[in-house]
Amino acid sequence: MSTNWTEVFAAQLDEIVAELKTYVEMETPTHNKQAVDQLGNFIADRFAALGCKVERHPQEVVGDQLRIEYGEGDEQILILGHFDTVKEIGTLTTEPWRIEDGKAYGPGTYDMKSGIVFSYYALKTIIENQLPLNKKLVFFWNTDEETGSEHSKELIQEEGRRSALALVIEPTYGDGYVKTSRKGGGEFTLRVKGRAAHAGNDHKIGINAIDELAHQILQIRALTDYEQGTTLSVGVISGGTVSNVVPEYAEAIIDVRVMKASEAERVTQAMYTLKPMLEGAVLTVEGGVAKTPMERTEATEKLFLHAKEQAKLEGLELKEIGVGGTSDGNVVAVVGIPVLDGLGPVGDGAHASHEHVVVDEIPARIALLVRLFTTM
Ligand SMILES: [Zn+2]
Repeated sequence: MSTNWTEVFAAQLDEIVAELKTYVEMETPTHNKQAVDQLGNFIADRFAALGCKVERHPQEVVGDQLRIEYGEGDEQILILGHFDTVKEIGTLTTEPWRIEDGKAYGPGTYDMKSGIVFSYYALKTIIENQLPLNKKLVFFWNTDEETGSEHSKELIQEEGRRSALALVIEPTYGDGYVKTSRKGGGEFTLRVKGRAAHAGNDHKIGINAIDELAHQILQIRALTDYEQGTTLSVGVISGGTVSNVVPEYAEAIIDVRVMKASEAERVTQAMYTLKPMLEGAVLTVEGGVAKTPMERTEATEKLFLHAKEQAKLEGLELKEIGVGGTSDGNVVAVVGIPVLDGLGPVGDGAHASHEHVVVDEIPARIALLVRLFTTM
């Protein structure tokens, strides 16, 4: 009979929750290198004590990135997460660590310090029980995910290229869905240059930049394709000076979201080839789809079905969903490996004051990680 790992972790739940409390009480806003490094050192020591190889990628402005390796061989599984948070130092005074109605509250509980704690306990159990691995495990704990992974992106992708697949231990969705796709997105700025003229005397020789922008907005609007999961939204417009001058300048800032890389290409191509409608108007376009989508490929589906099967052995009914928000799942998906995201805690309130994880759901989620780490 195979072990029920959920029971094993349920018996250690107090210790696991106490470990999470330690993480949460070391506040880690992304921009505070010193604070982030303090928790980074703590995490590094923890994994080193298990016998892992710990490598620090030193950073100047953000916390040092942590790469932690366990196991042998050339094949590897990449396990991704971050320990920076959006919450400032001192948030603990207004949002203290506390357990209420079976929920553990505090900054970074849900997004996503518990994900690292879960990974640690999964690995600790694998080592203590000498469970064999099919592939080496490489944990990459990022320090600047919340500001867009600018300092970690290349390291993550380099690691991704060496990996067979990636597991992202970000929070689950809703009551425990894992995430098999994430939209990509970005921003465009469209600038229109016309020609100023007196609105009374010289109306005819003016080129109205706002009129031109209005034409372009309709073109941009037409690029939305709900069936493909592509949306464009003109979110900000500005232009003109006073009403009696034909405006020389106007601009728009446009939000873009895509589910497919091919759609990112289509939209970018269309935006950069917008043609002016008014004679003499000049358009310039900047920006693009900075975060590529994490697509649900056939390989993703296979990975999810495997996870679903493993979850079932723990009595857990695993469900999947595609979401709009981005994570390091988008960053690593670029290299073409399958990614399963949202393998972390059940809870709610990422970036909000009611941030929490559901304590009773913790054991089954760690149990699933044990199974995934040893069977992939
Ligand atoms: Zn996160």
